[in-house]
Amino acid sequence: MSHIIHRSLRRTPPVAVSGEGIILRDSKGNSYLDASGGAAVSSLGHGHPDVVDAMHAQIDRLAYAHTAFFTTDVAEELAARIAYDAPGDLDHVYLVSGGSEAMETALKLARQYVVECGQPQRHLFIARRQSYHGNTLGALALGGNAFRRKPYAPLLMDVARVAPCYEYRDRADGQSVADYTASLIAELEVAIVAAGPENVIGFCAEPVVGATGGAIPPTPGYFKGVRALCDKYGILFIADEVMCGMGRTGTLYAVEQENVLPDLVALGKGLGAGYQPIGAVVARDPIVQRLRNGSGVFQHGHTYVGHPVAAAAALAVQRVIQRDCLLGAVTVRGASLRRLLRDAFGAHPHVGDIRGRGLLWALELVRDRDTKEPFAPSLKLHEAVRTQAMACGLIVYPMGGTIDGERGDHILLAPPFVATEADLVEIVARLQEALERALLSAG
Ligand code: PLP
Repeated sequence: MSHIIHRSLRRTPPVAVSGEGIILRDSKGNSYLDASGGAAVSSLGHGHPDVVDAMHAQIDRLAYAHTAFFTTDVAEELAARIAYDAPGDLDHVYLVSGGSEAMETALKLARQYVVECGQPQRHLFIARRQSYHGNTLGALALGGNAFRRKPYAPLLMDVARVAPCYEYRDRADGQSVADYTASLIAELEVAIVAAGPENVIGFCAEPVVGATGGAIPPTPGYFKGVRALCDKYGILFIADEVMCGMGRTGTLYAVEQENVLPDLVALGKGLGAGYQPIGAVVARDPIVQRLRNGSGVFQHGHTYVGHPVAAAAALAVQRVIQRDCLLGAVTVRGASLRRLLRDAFGAHPHVGDIRGRGLLWALELVRDRDTKEPFAPSLKLHEAVRTQAMACGLIVYPMGGTIDGERGDHILLAPPFVATEADLVEIVARLQEALERALLSAG
């Protein structure tokens, strides 16, 4: 039995030993097509030589220096690059070690900002019922998954919650997309007014919902409406782009496709593409200027903030994305994946919705396509899909809790940006087989 506390305390997963491009191998000689990059992490695939070389070179030069004493060229260069590539005046970067840390940092930066604006009574965040923002206590409190929050409920801050933008299930028959969108914005305004706008720090949302809903893009104008409300009530808009950012949807930032500027953006996963644990918060200029001209410090910090090897890896990843025109590849391959998924599953009796953007796609699984009835949670269909997919040599990211964080299953796909057309064909073929086997095993 392993000494590691694994996700399942009853089962030790296969031992991953090597990876190359889209392929992962385990210690028993099995190989897997990594069609989800783990959880939308490995955007360049495995073993990319440019990233590996950059990490080696950095380790040879300097592996670590604490930010209480030093900055490093490589962290400065990465921050400059992120700021340069970010829209608008998202000019300031705080480098952390992952997505949850990025969200915690964003929450604390937002709170310190309102305090330094002379509004210490602002204490409340508003989030959506369908979201995952991380597993640390602040990020967990924000998340829409009631099941995940439940054991920790007494430890979590209060968060006001509104409906997600989930057209497949929530737009009524005959309701126009514009009316549906307007109803969500109206609901958000009611929540702000009910909380007392003077008490609210910010609204947090994933521009494209990842793991808890399954690649759900917003309806047109939804985030424009959010931004307008935030401006009206002096509330910060925090975009969690940990999963959907860094090119995953075809633009470096998913919000670019919504034509809105968030006040703070959290990044993770695709920033370092799995080569190192790294995340970041990108902040608009007025927020940082307020702190600079106020207390002069950000009351925050971790031992591995701005880690030079992590920064070197992320810098190399971002350079490869630009040099090899991979944002364009995401759009082109994304269109292919969409076509392949629609051809394979468009008429499937248990696939209710096929949705996504760029190279982030999902199938929502239903017992009945007409009623959209989900499978019973007790069947754990998503787990059966994961098991069967691995048996077919395929890594996808199936999750339960698609609806209200408690019911419903979906399968997330997030292939690397370097996947070929042939890779996508093979992924979809293996997924077809895995889904049939899972449906059989789940009865
Ligand atoms: N935010 C979103 C949207 C995520 O998808 C995740 C991870 O899945 C996180 C935050 C947390 O990131 P991490 O697991 O790196 O802490």
